[in-house]
Amino acid sequence: MTHFFIELFSQIAVPEVSDKAMSYYKSGNILWILEWLQIMAIPFLLLVTGLSGRLGRFAKRYGKNWFFSLLIYLISFVAFYQILSLPLAFYSGYLREHAYGLSTQSIGRWVANFGNFSMVILLTGAAFLWIFYLLLKRSPKRWWIYSSLTIMCVIFILTFVLPIWIDPLFNTFGPMKNKQIEKQILDLAAKAGMGDVTLLEVDKSKDTTLGNAYVTGIGSTKRIVLWDTIIDDKHPESALFIMGHEMGHYVLNHVWLWMGYYAILSFAICYLIYKISGFLLSRYHHIFRFQHLHDVASVPLFLVMINFFLFLQTPCLNALSRYMEIEADRFGIEITQNNTVAAEGFASAVSGHLANPRPGVIYKIWRSHHPSLGDRVDFCNSYCPWETGQPLKYAEHFKIDNK
Ligand SMILES: [Zn+2]
Repeated sequence: MTHFFIELFSQIAVPEVSDKAMSYYKSGNILWILEWLQIMAIPFLLLVTGLSGRLGRFAKRYGKNWFFSLLIYLISFVAFYQILSLPLAFYSGYLREHAYGLSTQSIGRWVANFGNFSMVILLTGAAFLWIFYLLLKRSPKRWWIYSSLTIMCVIFILTFVLPIWIDPLFNTFGPMKNKQIEKQILDLAAKAGMGDVTLLEVDKSKDTTLGNAYVTGIGSTKRIVLWDTIIDDKHPESALFIMGHEMGHYVLNHVWLWMGYYAILSFAICYLIYKISGFLLSRYHHIFRFQHLHDVASVPLFLVMINFFLFLQTPCLNALSRYMEIEADRFGIEITQNNTVAAEGFASAVSGHLANPRPGVIYKIWRSHHPSLGDRVDFCNSYCPWETGQPLKYAEHFKIDNK
């Protein structure tokens, strides 16, 4: 039986990795380590040099009230942080991507995006940071419970507004230009039981040669976005499988799974910080140059701990993400039933994305939020339950019978 169905569609080979891709992979690993070190080092240095403590006192002196002091501190902190992280960000986001021929972005656009991103951090910080400091001040024993509840609300609000307020700061979103492919995608959406979905095309070709698509938002802001780089007029089927995959994320409620994960994570991290911070402050306050956790100068102390725990949970986050990606692939294959096109898409991404299709175990655990391209090609080559009369895992979601 197994041999029978394998012959029904052509098997796609996983391409060999090129020298260029291997060098991108290896240098990418070093860059990943450097980026994590930098994320930890900047707040750590601000903390142990007492600079944050001094900045806090400066903000207190010039801010007319508590909120303005917080704002002055925040502006100085974000400026300082962004200036220090600029060289590595420029290298990894601009120079390196151009050197490997993966970027089409102009330097002006890169600078504008970096500036916009800094503004988003600043405004989000100004909108929410005061809540945490008020909680720290008013409820020294229970702040961690209220803070994690607040974080969940913030994540919910951000997930809602991200596609409508924040994403358009960086790119232009509009209806699909190729009406023929749009019609095919909408037919597929109807089959997946989501005929009312908002489908948008984003002008990513201004930034990159890479292709992608994603589901974002909640409720009325929920939408499927295709990068214009994946639309190949000659091979519309390849975009259809990618859309089938994205519809899988949508129909299988992956946005809510993420929410649940982040809810648990924020409770765990807030509790750990609550347990550790008092000890650190009582022991090292003379180095930090501030006495209380509700002093705004404690921002880098929180960041050091948050980043440390975020780093530790990376394998869990990646494992959950890989699970969702496999299930979205399964959904995409079941709804399109075009294994060859799906496998070809992943095989061509090996060269297009300069990817290593068979990365090592450490890479998989710490860095892979998607299954490797090799694994995805293998899956597409072998998964076709309809050929052997097996039930489809997600048949209940499909509006049209797949016989
Ligand atoms: Zn996906």
